[in-house]
Amino acid sequence: MSKKLDLSARGKSVFDLRTVLETPDGLAEDVLVSINNGPGPSVILCGGIHGDEYEPQIALRRLIDALSTSDIRGRLVIIPTLNFPASQKGSRLSPLDGHNMNRVFPGKPDGTATERLASFLYGQVFPSFDLLVDVHSGGGDYRVVPMIFGFTAPGCRVGDSELERVMEGWGYRFIQYVDGIASTSAGSSPSAGVASVEIEGGSGGDVTERDVEIMYSGIVRGLTNFGVLAGSERAAPKDVIRVEVTDANQYTAPADGIIEHRVELGAAVGEGQIVALLHPASGASADPIKLHAPRSGYVLRQRARAFVRKGELIGNTGTPRIQ
Ligand SMILES: [Zn+2]
Repeated sequence: MSKKLDLSARGKSVFDLRTVLETPDGLAEDVLVSINNGPGPSVILCGGIHGDEYEPQIALRRLIDALSTSDIRGRLVIIPTLNFPASQKGSRLSPLDGHNMNRVFPGKPDGTATERLASFLYGQVFPSFDLLVDVHSGGGDYRVVPMIFGFTAPGCRVGDSELERVMEGWGYRFIQYVDGIASTSAGSSPSAGVASVEIEGGSGGDVTERDVEIMYSGIVRGLTNFGVLAGSERAAPKDVIRVEVTDANQYTAPADGIIEHRVELGAAVGEGQIVALLHPASGASADPIKLHAPRSGYVLRQRARAFVRKGELIGNTGTPRIQ
């Protein structure tokens, strides 16, 4: 394991993020792996920005094992567990400062542990790449369909039409169109000159072979089609569904209670269709509150924990995009 981070080093190198950041407080105790085969496209893959999202961390370590320098055209950097302290605790948020790491970008160089790590990535790492791939899953609280969405801006090396090709090349069932949030990793990187995609899928507290396989095969297909993995282009499924998601697609708990989903994750639903029942968690009556799909489309996300508090997100649909 090398100490000093050198993103131009040729070959396959493992860097210890502790020494990169020189933090004694357990801020970043895991690794950054660089596989550099010279000129060509450059991609950085990050997993575990939310510590309880484990499919990405498994898939990215599997990718590190699978790849040698000759498999790369250009440069691929992989950080399998970005929010290491949270991952070690099984939590979405950092136990060091309580931050959601995906809401602190571009970070602060003199801020809390999570803010400093974000600042290091945004300022010193992201600008070296053509594309950021931020890999998420549902974590402990939600189950999510396999989907991809992305962001670019003038000045990024991957522009609008190429970003569409990147997202299609991933081969997931859904491509989502959503407004970027500037404090997220993928939402902030275009202002550092780097286009981004964020991918989602799986979880609900456990990890299944199927979810890891969908995630891993999508990453390999997407990176091959982008050109950073050697090999000929891989066909992606053609039946991709493009959906738009806004706050109006969300359905939340109108009261404390116990959620029973009445539709499957990924199912097509009509506006007003019953998507869940909220059962009372107290009192003598079993009479549930019916929750309706706020907009027609496909169910993209569902709450995985049964007990919910008033106002918590139960799920959201994606509305098919009018081309
Ligand atoms: Zn996440």
